[in-house]
Amino acid sequence: MIEVFLEGHDYSYEVLDILSSYFDRETIQFVHEKDPADSRSLFIHSSMAFDAGDVVFKCVVRHGDANVTEEKRFSRAGGGEQEMRKQYKRMLKNNLLTALEAFTGKKMPWGILTGIRPVKVVHKLLDQGFSEEDIQDRLTGFYRLSVDKAKLCLEIAAVERKYILPYDDRKVSVYISIPFCPTRCSYCSFPSHEVGKWGHLADEYLNCLYEEMDSVYNKLAGAGYSIQTVYIGGGTPTVLNHAQLKDLLEQVNRCFVSGETKEFTVEAGRPDTLDREKLSMLKAAGVTRISINPQSMNSATLERIGRRHTPEEVVRAYDLARSTGHSNINMDIIIGLPGEDIDMVVKTLDAALALKPEGLTVHTLAIKRASRLNEQGGDMGWVEEDEISGMVEAAAYYAGKMGMKPYYLYKQRYMVGNHENIGYSIPGYECLYNMQIMEEKQSIIGLGAGAVSKLVFLKEDRLERLENIKNVEYYISRFGHVMEKKLLGLAALIDG
Ligand code: SF4
Repeated sequence: MIEVFLEGHDYSYEVLDILSSYFDRETIQFVHEKDPADSRSLFIHSSMAFDAGDVVFKCVVRHGDANVTEEKRFSRAGGGEQEMRKQYKRMLKNNLLTALEAFTGKKMPWGILTGIRPVKVVHKLLDQGFSEEDIQDRLTGFYRLSVDKAKLCLEIAAVERKYILPYDDRKVSVYISIPFCPTRCSYCSFPSHEVGKWGHLADEYLNCLYEEMDSVYNKLAGAGYSIQTVYIGGGTPTVLNHAQLKDLLEQVNRCFVSGETKEFTVEAGRPDTLDREKLSMLKAAGVTRISINPQSMNSATLERIGRRHTPEEVVRAYDLARSTGHSNINMDIIIGLPGEDIDMVVKTLDAALALKPEGLTVHTLAIKRASRLNEQGGDMGWVEEDEISGMVEAAAYYAGKMGMKPYYLYKQRYMVGNHENIGYSIPGYECLYNMQIMEEKQSIIGLGAGAVSKLVFLKEDRLERLENIKNVEYYISRFGHVMEKKLLGLAALIDG
């Protein structure tokens, strides 16, 4: 148990953020007394006070006789109320992290960048004219990143800037959700519906989706927007039958693909949904990038996580994809799957090496609240943090061996071992959509059940999220409401 007393501020969310990166399975309780009721608990006292032109953050960490006090003085923050709070929150995190580093002797590689998109900070500083050297100093100093992570962020930002600059608020990307899968993976937190149980709704769902696509197209085209990238995800879009998939691709081409469109990706994630006809259909429809995702090439793991396909089916799917002309294939793998050791991860990486994908996305298992793995709890054969680091390093080594470089990254809450997800690719095969969604300088219009639109107001440096209903049944039955909300959101974007 960890008890926390806050004084002079109410930044409990930020305190939890930092604490959970150190103590991911401990109960954390905010208390109203300055002194711990129970000396067996770890006690943290975090305070903030103003002193002339400065603001002083102080953090005391105490457990039994062990005691650490860290005090830090910063200049008062400037800007509006919201901006000031943002800056104070960062200062608080810096102070708390410094105290915890001293108390535990352990450094967190990502420092106070506990959010999902650490590279965004780098883009912001580059946009403000800071040099790479200055940024690295800031990242390792105030943000307290390790030198390796700071360099990684800078490397990725440099690749991304070749693609995402100049920012242009008349260009958007489109995400289309097909929220059906053959089975539900145990770690899944996406709005996915098992096709055996929900597939009878697919036609009705697609009709609503086409209506949504038409309305969005009319609105955007009427206001002079062009579509830079299209991404069909889910779910597993290729679980649709041949006629449904053909129709979907035609509708997408009609509404969103033009000479301005630089990329058209389809998640062909589960190899058990693929055959020659579907893969040929994707190619003929102008799809430029697909993803075929084994996650692991160990059959026992695949069975354990509910994938219900074999490593051999993955190999067959890659062969079929190549023979139908696909030349940009991404592969997703997951590090930290329960029951896997380093040898099993290396087996997956060896298989990846042999299949020669153009992209490799390395996820570190995050136990999301919505996933079955989280509900199951108990002893699932969780991989220890130290082992995860070795696996992540092995993946980076193999990506290098495949001639790939990292080009985007994101973190997730509840990630095992406080690691990150990294997208690698052979230079020239980067996924523009992935970079745009990560760096949030372009609006993404999400269509279909569970799709999230991100409306970017560049001039105001502001972002609005617009979520579609997740459940397929409700998406259909409340479609009028879905459309009303979507058109209002788009009108705000266009007027902004
Ligand atoms: S394939 Fe992806 S979307 Fe489908 S159940 Fe598995 S994790 Fe979820």
